[in-house]
Amino acid sequence: MHVSSIPYALCDEEMVHIPDVRKGDRRLFSCPECGEGLFFKAGEIRIPHFSHYPESMCSMSLESALHYYAKHYIASAIKKRDENVQFKFQVDTLPDLFRRSLLLFDTNRSEYAVSIMDLVRYFEVYNVNVEKMFDIYKPDVLCNDYDLNRFLAFEVAVTHYSTEEKIAFYLENDIAYIEFVPVVHEDGKTLSFTVEAHNLDEFLKTRFDILIKSFVH
Ligand SMILES: [Zn+2]
Repeated sequence: MHVSSIPYALCDEEMVHIPDVRKGDRRLFSCPECGEGLFFKAGEIRIPHFSHYPESMCSMSLESALHYYAKHYIASAIKKRDENVQFKFQVDTLPDLFRRSLLLFDTNRSEYAVSIMDLVRYFEVYNVNVEKMFDIYKPDVLCNDYDLNRFLAFEVAVTHYSTEEKIAFYLENDIAYIEFVPVVHEDGKTLSFTVEAHNLDEFLKTRFDILIKSFVH
């Protein structure tokens, strides 16, 4: 069984999105999950989409497509040093003092956004890997610094969350992690991320210092 409509495809190792494909496009598209060829359909009735050929056994679902897309989106944003990709923390998941300070200035505040590049700078990210084994786990995206002393794991939550064992493993091994739900914007390809879990209190405390300085000056 496979779903017939997929919003993303690979083309020359790049992710391609429906809004970027026109009817009659002759490029070769392939499925990010199984690598088989996909065809592009833009009819009168159904919205444009990619589809497997009828004999395909691929189990790519909309959820696994989004999961795949989000991982590569993160890795690509880090490589391109894209300041615009944001992680939105619920205010009640922030370290206590930071949360109370934010609320002092805006009592209705519910979110606090951090750019992916703020994380990259803080963790001195040098290298990015998608789905690479680390001990017994395979983080969706794993970053490390030049000396392989500091690690930052990104976990995309679409249909399921990280197990408690995995989170415990990250804590025991001093690996920073952030788990989030990808949110697709109206253009069909821009993502932002709503944080569901993290162990980034040390990083967030440095944000607190930045916040305080901005009020003092
Ligand atoms: Zn497939």
